[in-house]
Amino acid sequence: MSLTINAIPIFSDNYAWALHDTTTNKTAIIDPGEDHPIRTYLDMHGHKLDFILLTHHHADHINGADTLRQHYGARILGPRDQRLQSLVDCIVQDREPISLGESKGYALATPGHTLSHMCYYFSSPPALFCGDTLFSLGCGRLFEGTAEQLYESFRKISTLPPQTKIYCGHEYTLANADFAFHVDPTNHALKERITQVRSLRSKGQPTLPSTLEQELATNPFLRAPNAQILKHLRQEKDTF
Ligand code: ZN
Ligand code: FE
Repeated sequence: MSLTINAIPIFSDNYAWALHDTTTNKTAIIDPGEDHPIRTYLDMHGHKLDFILLTHHHADHINGADTLRQHYGARILGPRDQRLQSLVDCIVQDREPISLGESKGYALATPGHTLSHMCYYFSSPPALFCGDTLFSLGCGRLFEGTAEQLYESFRKISTLPPQTKIYCGHEYTLANADFAFHVDPTNHALKERITQVRSLRSKGQPTLPSTLEQELATNPFLRAPNAQILKHLRQEKDTF
């Protein structure tokens, strides 16, 4: 039983993720914001498309879904949301089991960026597709939810196995590094990660996936209760 995962770069900084269960030859795409690069990828690999998984309703994550469904006869899974009504064939709820062939996992509701945002977790090997909830060294903007909701979503993600690979919806890591370093300047793991990220980006390579362990050690939004970060933020607040 094995799951291969590949990045398909779309637009300027989005990733759609291609999942392939090698035992059953089943394929899924997470967040096809456009159809053309996905078709090119699938043709190149000689794969059909069985499932499309949507994390949230924003156009850069869904715009290729309908065309791909028609072309391949794929089924679209996603959260309950009026704005996704015409797209989603199968609504998934928080903690609902999902499977791609022999690869099993579950959906994980993570409100914050949008109210119905859904992440998808596969357990073997552990992998989380987190859309725009969590980015490496950062997180998605609060469009609809409250800070408390998003923080609770981070807590849910934080309880997954530390070796879980984190597959985000955007290549924002380098841009996030500035803020992360600003609030957490003495974090040695963060400094190392920033060096690695600069090197990867200078070669045009993705900085993703990261791992949950890596994010817990370097991402200021997962490290918000950290004493150093709190001290830094309080000092800053006092200077206003
Ligand atoms: Zn979004
Ligand atoms: Fe996005």
